[in-house]
Amino acid sequence: MTYLRATDPFPLEAADHNKLHEFYARLAAGRLSTTRCTVCERTAWPPRGFCGECAADTFEWVDLPPVGTIHAFTVQDTGLPAGFDGPRVFAIVKVGGHRVFAVVRDADPAAVSIGQRVRLAPLRVADDPKGTPRYLPAFVVDAA
Ligand SMILES: [Zn+2]
Repeated sequence: MTYLRATDPFPLEAADHNKLHEFYARLAAGRLSTTRCTVCERTAWPPRGFCGECAADTFEWVDLPPVGTIHAFTVQDTGLPAGFDGPRVFAIVKVGGHRVFAVVRDADPAAVSIGQRVRLAPLRVADDPKGTPRYLPAFVVDAA
């Protein structure tokens, strides 16, 4: 079957197409990671193949903490794609000095609040054309 690239809502994540593919491999293993410039040592979010600060193009991978706090959030009640249960909570999560846009899974919208502690829980989405599982960054409210 031909891979219909134009209809894929997600970025091309395979090593053949994307030098940042390591992000997805680590996410599948339950780790949220990003790039750190090997010249000025700044971390970026989202991961970048070159440094936005010093323009170097060498980087290494670093893990961000598995917990963060909700900086802002919104609730989507309608217009969700088929197969997605609503309502769905989307949040900007402060984690490791960065602000990460992500889904908050299994959340009661009425119980979500700014400053709430959340824990990384990557969300499995449709497999890639080769059948490899894919994940998006997501969190759950941390009960602890
Ligand atoms: Zn740099």
